[in-house]
Amino acid sequence: MARKQPPPRGPQLELAGALGVAFVNTAGAREENRQVGVRSYAELLVWSQQVGVVSAAEAERLRQLAAERPDEAAAVYERAVKVRSVLFRLFLATGTKRQLPPEDLATANEALARALPALRMVPAEQGLQWGWAGDEGALDRMLWPLLFSAAELLISARGRPHVRQCAFKGCLLFFVDRSPSGQRKWCDMKTCGNRAKALRHRKWRRGSQSSSFWD
Ligand SMILES: [Zn+2]
Repeated sequence: MARKQPPPRGPQLELAGALGVAFVNTAGAREENRQVGVRSYAELLVWSQQVGVVSAAEAERLRQLAAERPDEAAAVYERAVKVRSVLFRLFLATGTKRQLPPEDLATANEALARALPALRMVPAEQGLQWGWAGDEGALDRMLWPLLFSAAELLISARGRPHVRQCAFKGCLLFFVDRSPSGQRKWCDMKTCGNRAKALRHRKWRRGSQSSSFWD
């Protein structure tokens, strides 16, 4: 019988534009909803499989190992949450050209140092791509590509902040701006983009009504 999985949660890879950004977005779009995205090791695994960071077979193996080593799985989840908030602050700092918090950079580098020994070049459809070897039983192996993706973006963001936070007030989501104009504003046109449009429209109507009242 198929194992019952939690429903898909959180913003998906497509809108975020890169694994590292999608990972940061799993914390939730709004301050009051923080932690609603990925709330346990099991959910982290489900999400990782959805975005293609682990294969179905890998996810199943890690799920079994996590059941055998629940304390370790819980510790990996806690580490993932910590790394996620560190990456959030680093993206925010590079996007707004603020000074990078040194302790956050140190934490991210520590996590990166755990991941990098497993990094490999592997054959792809055309040429090579990044792949991950290392301990197949490491419960934190889904964090490695997420972290590496974020690191690549943080490096390339220097002087070219194409990872941006949604411009809608109160929305915390990030995205990689790959629009030709480089002027993308919203995490998602269907949500924040439409909300912003509706707000503008309401303001415009209020504006035109009040002027007709006073005329
Ligand atoms: Zn948004």
